Amino acid sequence: MDKLVFRRGERISHAYIVASMSEEARRGAALRLSAAMLCLSGQDRPCGECRHCRKVFAGIHPDLIYISPGLDDKGRKRREILVDQVRFISADAQVMPNEAGVKVYVIQDAELMNAAAQNALLKLLEEPPASAAFVLCAANPALLLPTVRSRCVLLRINEDAQDDEQAVRDAEELLEAAASGSRVELLRWSAAAEGMDTRRAAAMVNAARARLADILRGEAGPGLDAAACVQLDALFQRCSAMLKLNTGVRHVLGLIAVSAEMRKSN
Ligand SMILES: [Zn+2]
Repeated sequence: MDKLVFRRGERISHAYIVASMSEEARRGAALRLSAAMLCLSGQDRPCGECRHCRKVFAGIHPDLIYISPGLDDKGRKRREILVDQVRFISADAQVMPNEAGVKVYVIQDAELMNAAAQNALLKLLEEPPASAAFVLCAANPALLLPTVRSRCVLLRINEDAQDDEQAVRDAEELLEAAASGSRVELLRWSAAAEGMDTRRAAAMVNAARARLADILRGEAGPGLDAAACVQLDALFQRCSAMLKLNTGVRHVLGLIAVSAEMRKSN
């Protein structure tokens, strides 16, 4: 998705999940979505010009409320969003908005809501107060309860792996390890990549294929000739299909490591 905009007359739901691996992309999309929910324009929303839009983009709209894991006493990001934080939303949502027609609650790192918090939120999503709307930001929406997911419209941002900075970085590391063909390098790479979830691994493989296409078109790459690019592309295509079928990430990484080493030694 390039720029989030709702066309004139298009219905805006009261609950969305904004999903992206990039925190910056999630923040940007949540901001535009919130503005659209609050916007007064009869044309495309957010219009960027009405007083609600202006306040949202200036970060001073009183009806835009952010919920996040917050920091512990040592200044580190907490690992959970707690049920009390969702109870705050329930109570606050009973109070009329200050200026706009709705209050928008943006939950950052929504997948960090613990089970109790998600269940409390589910109640709110099932019977939303008339003037409340919800934006759940998540890197990995699969970690949200299916019942919560089913109540929200899922917006994937930067689904294209090439736009995903993380995927591009992951792909670069993958290609360097693959180009080296060294067992030590490949083992080091696969050990480092082992913690990836399926989505991140799939994004990495897709970004690597995009990078190979660029190298084949003449861009400088990590020491891969055309034959190597074609071979690796076929390998990554296979990996992409495997990940879609929910093959374990470790298994796929192992296949890449073995194949890259064999390619080099042949
Ligand atoms: Zn507006």
